[in-house]
Amino acid sequence: MVLAHDDVDDLVRLRRQLHRHPELRFTERRTAALLAERLAPIARVHTGVADTGLVVEIEGRAPGPSVLLRADMDAYPVQDVKEVPWASGNPGVCHACGHDVHMAVVAGVAARIVADPPARGSVTLLFQPAEEIPFGEASGAAAALADAALRGRRFDAVLGLHCWPDLPAGTVGVDRETAMAAKDAFRVEVLGRAAHAATPALGRDAILGLSGIVNLLHAGVARSRNPHELVAFNIGTIAGGASQSQVAERAEATGTLRTHDEAVRGRLKEVVERIARQQAAALDLGLRFTWANEMPPVRNAASLVALAHAELPGLVDVADLTEPPLTTDDFALLGALGPSLYVKLGVTGERGGAPLHSGAFDVDERCVGVGVAALERLTRAVLAGRLAEPGAPATPAGTDQAGADQATPAGADDTAPGERAAAGAVGA
Ligand SMILES: [Zn+2]
Repeated sequence: MVLAHDDVDDLVRLRRQLHRHPELRFTERRTAALLAERLAPIARVHTGVADTGLVVEIEGRAPGPSVLLRADMDAYPVQDVKEVPWASGNPGVCHACGHDVHMAVVAGVAARIVADPPARGSVTLLFQPAEEIPFGEASGAAAALADAALRGRRFDAVLGLHCWPDLPAGTVGVDRETAMAAKDAFRVEVLGRAAHAATPALGRDAILGLSGIVNLLHAGVARSRNPHELVAFNIGTIAGGASQSQVAERAEATGTLRTHDEAVRGRLKEVVERIARQQAAALDLGLRFTWANEMPPVRNAASLVALAHAELPGLVDVADLTEPPLTTDDFALLGALGPSLYVKLGVTGERGGAPLHSGAFDVDERCVGVGVAALERLTRAVLAGRLAEPGAPATPAGTDQAGADQATPAGADDTAPGERAAAGAVGA
């Protein structure tokens, strides 16, 4: 079934509407209303999931495998600097992470599944609020997992995608194992004693202590990782003191540690906390150290990676991604609902190319139809039983075609003639 141009145009209009009216975490009410209005006539819509999210249920003609498709809903707190008709009308807020595209794609897959219902199985959509979370706040994925609409459920596959400026529009990237890194956010608060600047001996300088900690943390992390270990360490905020003429009583910094490997993650967390505590103690300062927003890595299930390499070539361009990024996503938590696959949607072409979270971020909108084609194909493949049994050998993508083929038993491919042209049709 080829995506008609009209359908793609309709989804691009939806994407632009969402882009024009971005909403921050847990305030996505207009966004939710727009999606509910569109989906309620064709599926069962539960509103108020995780506060401002939606869960949408689509049943096939008979019971069978189950697929969860997730799209995040929230925008990013950055000023939109684009000069296009769909630029954000909400000052300081922009869909700079492409979540507008994710929503349009999943809404598009839903419409196509409903128009041509699978013989068996069910598809559940999760429109998830609040993927972008500041220090210490709860994640929208965690809230969705705790919601009655999803609590305790299991799916045969949990699928999602993320806009990826490093890839051209028309391409879908599949990471071999890790699709996003683990992230640990931290806050270090240094507690000193205030005094007049003229009598520093009466005080304990929290700013001096914190500046030492900042330098030592960068050095300590750099010297506690081996060259092959993927790590990104950042201190992103610093604040403290009350007056230029006072010894600062208090100073704090926040940052993140991003890793892929659990052993490296544990080692570096220990290094970070130890350096902060020992440096504060050396200067007779107090210290409060807090970890927050601890997010596991997004791991792609080997069976779903194999399925993607069996199903997607010919429909879309597939990139075998071998170097996982150090970005993170709370899609990681949804792995609790079943084997998961998070693919990267190429967005760069006539437009696009600016990095994620930049106020100039935009996409080549051909990516919308490509995303729909890819996610629909993967969904139908799981519903048709073409997913290898858990534990069956699945070979890293692209290295062994025979391995990938195991996910597609001979004769099980129900690809309609012409379906392979879908990407060409939608990507034109
Ligand atoms: Zn994002």
